[in-house]
Amino acid sequence: MTLPPLPVLDVVPRIGGLTLPREVALYTCGITPYDATHLGHAHTYLTFDHLVRILTVTGGHVRHVQNVTDVDDPLLERAAATGVDWRELAASQVELFAADMAALRILPPDAWVGVVESIPLVVDAVARLLAAGAAYRLPASGDVYAAVEEDTSFHERLPVPAGDAVAMFAERGGDPERPGKRSPLDPLLWRAERPGEPAWEGGPLGRGRPGWHIECAAIAAHHLGGAPTITGGGSDLAFPHHHMSASHLRALGHGEGVLTMHAGMVSLDGEKMSKSRGNLEFVSRLLAGGADPAALRLALAGHHWRSDWEWHPADIEAARGRLDRWRAAAHATRPAGSGSPLARSIATALADDLDSPAALAAVDAWAGRVLAGDDEALSDAHAVAAVDALLGVDLQDRPRRRR
Ligand SMILES: [Zn+2]
Repeated sequence: MTLPPLPVLDVVPRIGGLTLPREVALYTCGITPYDATHLGHAHTYLTFDHLVRILTVTGGHVRHVQNVTDVDDPLLERAAATGVDWRELAASQVELFAADMAALRILPPDAWVGVVESIPLVVDAVARLLAAGAAYRLPASGDVYAAVEEDTSFHERLPVPAGDAVAMFAERGGDPERPGKRSPLDPLLWRAERPGEPAWEGGPLGRGRPGWHIECAAIAAHHLGGAPTITGGGSDLAFPHHHMSASHLRALGHGEGVLTMHAGMVSLDGEKMSKSRGNLEFVSRLLAGGADPAALRLALAGHHWRSDWEWHPADIEAARGRLDRWRAAAHATRPAGSGSPLARSIATALADDLDSPAALAAVDAWAGRVLAGDDEALSDAHAVAAVDALLGVDLQDRPRRRR
């Protein structure tokens, strides 16, 4: 997808006060394809879509890589519980996720990489960690673990209170109590083959399958040429996932990224939306119920990416009203000249810590002025293109009818 052209905007994107480089290697953690795409996912990927858009429109260049964890315990457990082949489950959920992202006009990553196709990369990375003394094998099983104590900055960079780390690791897929590990926080790199589980040739590692954190480290290093400039995901990935992946990248000699961005969590009925709680609202369900995807996109964009927020079913109606006003304004415009105050206003808002609510407010103000007959707003040369390029909403699109 190419963005509609806009006049040059000399706006400098910053995140949390940090000026972003012009060349950005962006890595976003993708889905484990067994239950896609709830609104928490959608809000996270929308965040990085806004990031790609503001960087691109202001003259930067982004290479964006995203993984798909197309083999892992939760996927295998769901497949076993539902009697579906894990490969079929993964393929169907990947397809659904891609369709949801396309409906929301989330720009696709430059490379979308599955772990199954990346096994040789993971094997190579794990073998190098073993050779460097940064990993070890548990004798009985042959499973390979990273030795976190070998990483001199592991504890200093811990993004959670040290006293909480072991409990959080256990809650989020870790195995702190596994006998034989050197440290409770050592994460699994390679799981040796077990009866009834999928496994691949691992060369010196023996047959098995990858751990989760090394998957992202190996894919990022290969497809971005080193540590990502920006690593992104939901805030539940800060620890252990991003922390462990960053540690693996350091141990592999790939250095440090510049920034990790964690999008807030979305809750429903007072609880964080999560697979384990089952309180999920899905993009596909809302769209099948007749929601306009552009309105859903605006409903999500109305929340700042850093904040945790709660989804209310009425949000989609409010967003639909906003979208209708914007479309009416777009219909009334009489573009002239070359300036675009609206493009500048939206870009300025997004450049300031991706402030999407402020960007939406700027479009509201423009629409209000257009509908009030304000000449400057009516003649903005690039208003419609700016909303499309920066906010991913095509105002010339025909409104989608409710079923
Ligand atoms: Zn990841």
